[in-house]
Amino acid sequence: MTNTDRRVSERASLDKRDLRRSFLDNLLYVQGKFPKLANNADYYLALAHTVRDRLMQRWISTASAYTSQASRTVCYLSAEFLMGPHLGNNLINLGIYDETAKMVAELGLDLEDLLYQEEEPGLGNGGLGRLAACFIDSLATLEVPALGYGIRYEYGIFHQTLVDGWQAEKTDKWLRYGNPWEIARPEWTVEIRFGGHTEQYVDEQQRLRVRWLPARVVLGVPHDTPILGYHVNTANTLRLWKAEAAESFDFGQFNRGDYAGAVTQKIVSENLSKVLYPNDEQEAGKELRLQQQYFFVSASLQDMLRILKIQGVPVENFHEKFAVQLNDTHPAIGVAELMRLLVDEHLLVWDTAWDITCKSFGYTNHTLMPEALERWSLPLFQRVLPRHLEIIYEINARFLDQVRLRFFGDEQRLARMSLIDEHGPRYVRMANLACAGSHAINGVADLHTELLKQDVLKDFYELWPEKFSNKTNGVTPRRWIVLANPRLTALISETLGEGWIKDLGQLRGLERHVENADFRARWAKVKRDNKADLAAHITRRLGISINPDSIFDVQVKRIHEYKRQHLAALHIIALYLRIKANPNIDLTPRTFIFGGKAAPGYFMAKLMIKLITAIGDVVNVDPAVRDRLKVVFMPNFSVTNGQRIYPAADLSEQISTAGKEASGTGNMKFQMNGALTIGTMDGANIEIQQEVGAENFFQFGLSTPEVYALGASGYRPMEYYQRSDALREVIDLIASGFFSRGDASLFKPLVDNLLYHDPYFLLADFDSYVACQDEVASVYRDADRWTRMAILNSARSGKFSSDRTILQYCDEIWGAKSVPIRLLTQEDVESAFEQQ
Ligand SMILES: *Cc1c(COP(=O)(O)O)cnc(C)c1O
Repeated sequence: MTNTDRRVSERASLDKRDLRRSFLDNLLYVQGKFPKLANNADYYLALAHTVRDRLMQRWISTASAYTSQASRTVCYLSAEFLMGPHLGNNLINLGIYDETAKMVAELGLDLEDLLYQEEEPGLGNGGLGRLAACFIDSLATLEVPALGYGIRYEYGIFHQTLVDGWQAEKTDKWLRYGNPWEIARPEWTVEIRFGGHTEQYVDEQQRLRVRWLPARVVLGVPHDTPILGYHVNTANTLRLWKAEAAESFDFGQFNRGDYAGAVTQKIVSENLSKVLYPNDEQEAGKELRLQQQYFFVSASLQDMLRILKIQGVPVENFHEKFAVQLNDTHPAIGVAELMRLLVDEHLLVWDTAWDITCKSFGYTNHTLMPEALERWSLPLFQRVLPRHLEIIYEINARFLDQVRLRFFGDEQRLARMSLIDEHGPRYVRMANLACAGSHAINGVADLHTELLKQDVLKDFYELWPEKFSNKTNGVTPRRWIVLANPRLTALISETLGEGWIKDLGQLRGLERHVENADFRARWAKVKRDNKADLAAHITRRLGISINPDSIFDVQVKRIHEYKRQHLAALHIIALYLRIKANPNIDLTPRTFIFGGKAAPGYFMAKLMIKLITAIGDVVNVDPAVRDRLKVVFMPNFSVTNGQRIYPAADLSEQISTAGKEASGTGNMKFQMNGALTIGTMDGANIEIQQEVGAENFFQFGLSTPEVYALGASGYRPMEYYQRSDALREVIDLIASGFFSRGDASLFKPLVDNLLYHDPYFLLADFDSYVACQDEVASVYRDADRWTRMAILNSARSGKFSSDRTILQYCDEIWGAKSVPIRLLTQEDVESAFEQQ
C-alpha cells in the first residue's frame, strides 16, 4: 500500500523519504526541539504526529463517504475501551512498520524504544474493555461503518506496584504529556442533565406531556480518536466524552461572593469523567458511577440524533441508521434515555418510540456471577434520574402486562422479571431493562449463552427465545500476533503468505507443515527467542534470573477468586514439597509467571497476590530447589505487558471454576501464539478444545453440571482436605506460617475460606489439577511432541479472530455491511471548495 503519487499531500505520503522529512519537521515544529536536545519522548511524539497525519487522510475520506452514503452504522456503547498503545498498531495497519523502523534506525534511533514511550490508554479493567478494543479494530478492518462511544477518563486503571509483596495502587496519569491520537470536537458538545424533578404540562396540541427540570447540567465534549483498519482506507472513530462544567463560574454564587463555592461546582461537574472505577466483575453501587453511565450514554444518543439530522433522516428511522450495542449493562440506561429523547423531546408517541428503541438496541451479557449483575437502589436512581425512573415504571407496566398474558397467574415469574426488584430495599435491575429494550440478547461463548438461557436469563428466554443468540468472543490478530509476535508473524507469512492476517482461518495451512522437522525447529526457535526476551526483561526489571528452557507456565488476568490464581499457587507448593521430600527428584523445571490487578477494595484478591509473592520469596532463594522452580509476579499487567507475555508462554492457565468465566479472551491470545492450555471446561476453553482436539489440550476439573450438583448436595471442602495427603500438606504449610515468617495469622482468612467454604471448589479440583500438571510436565520433556501440539494450537485458532465474531454480529444482529472507502485526493479537496 504505497501512494507516492503527488495527488496526495506530502503529509499523507507513505514513502520513506517523506516519512523522514515529516518526522524531522514534527520534531522541530511540533515538539520544538533540536535533535541534540531531544529525548525519546520527543522522538515518540514526533513520530506519533507523523503517523497521525497519515491517518488523517483516511479518516477524512471515511467521514466524507459515510456522510454522503448514510449506510447503517454500528454504535458500540462501552464504559470501557482498553485500547493499548496506538503507535505500533497504526504502523502495522498502515503497512509502514518496517520502513519506519529503518527510517528511525538511519537516524540512530530504535523504533521499539520509541514505542515503549507511549503511555497506554488504560481505559478499562480487563476482558470486557479489551473486547471493545478488539471489536473496533475488526469493524474498521472489515470496513463496517462504526463508532465506539465511551468515557474519556482522565485517570484510567490504576498503575500497580508491589510493596513488600502487596499490591499498591498509583493513579494513572496517562494524559500527563498530552495525547497525540485524539482531536477534541468542542463544536459537537452536548448538555447532559441530572437530578431535579419533573412536571406535567399540556402542549399546544392539548397533549399531556412531561418536562424534566434538572438540578444541574454538565457538558459532554467529544474527543475523537481515529481507528484505522488493517491495510484498508477505513478509519472509524472512537468518540470518548469528557465532562466539563456548563459555566466556568456559577454567576449567581459568584455575585453573592461565594467564589469558592462556584469553583467547587465546576469541579463537581468535571469529576464525572475523572476516574475509571477499578472493579472488575463486581458492583460498585456508587452514585458517581451511575452518573458516569448516564453521562456517556446520553451524550452518545444525542450525538446519534445530531448525525441523523445532518443527514436529513427523520427520527422515526433512527433504527435503520443505527445499530446500538450495549457492552454489558453499563450503558443499559440508554433504553430509557432513547425513550425520553424520542417521547419528551421529539414528541413521538410511546408505541412508536418503543418500537424504534427495541429495534435499535442489542444487549451483550458478560457475566454469570450474580454479584456482578448491576442494580441501582431506587432512592439513588430517583435522585439522579427522576424522569428515567418514571419512564422505567411505564416500560415495566407495559412489559409486565405482556408477561401476564403469556404466563397467566404466575406471580413469582412477574416478580423475577420486573425491572424493579421489590424483595427487600427496592432496586432497578439493569439487566432486565436491557433485555426488555433490546431485540437481540447474546452471550459470549457457547456455554455462557446456554447458561443464560437455562439459568441467569431463563425467564426472558422463555418469553422471547428468538431474541437469544451466541457470539463467541474473539481477539484481533493484528495486535495479538502481528504486533506482539513479529518472529512468529514472519515465520507464518513466509510459510503461508500474508492472507491469514485478515482471514485467520488460513492458519489451518500450518497443519501441512507439522511433519516438517525444519519447520518445527524454526517454530521452536521463535518460542525460545520470545522466552529469552521475556526472561531478560524480568531479570532487568525484577532482578530474578530465569531459565528460558524451563516451562513458562503463565496466568495473567484480573485477580479474582473465581479465576483461581490460588489454585495455581497450591500446585506450586505441592511441587516445592516434592523437592523438599526428595531433593534429587527429576522435576521438569518451571517458571511460574503471574500478572494481574486486584480491585483495590477486594481483600481476598489482594491476599492472593501476597500469597503468590510470598511463595516466590521462599522458593526463588531456597538452594534445595536449584532453579527447578521460579515464581514471578509481574507488576502492572496491561496491554503493553500482555504483548510481551502472551508470545513467550508455553502453558496457558485457564483454570476458573466451571460455569463462572463467561468466555475469556486471554485464552485465545495464548492459543494463537502457540501456548498449550491447561484448563477447565469453562467459557471459550470448551470451544478451544473442540477446535484443537482433546489430544492437544490439558483438561481437568469438574464440569459445570458437576459443580452445580456438588454445590446442591452440600459441598464439604474439609473432606477433600482429609482425603488427599498432598493437599493436606500444602494447606498445612501455608497455615503454619511457613510463607509468612512464622505468622500463622497472615493467610488464615484464605485458608479458612478454603477449608470451610471454598465457594469456587479449589479443593474439589486440586487432585485433578495436579495430575494434569504432571501430564504437562511429562509431555514437555518430549520437545518435539510439544512443538507439534503448539503448532496445531496456532493452526486451529482461526475461529477466535474477532473478525469472525464481528461478521456474526453484523449478519445476525446489526444488519451492517462493509462500505469500502476511496481515498480522497488533493484534487477532491480543491473541487469540494469550488462546489461551495
Ligand atoms: C486479554 C486481556 C484480559 C482478559 O484476560 P482473561 O484471561 O480473558 O481474563 C485482561 N487484561 C488485559 C490487559 C488483556 O489484554
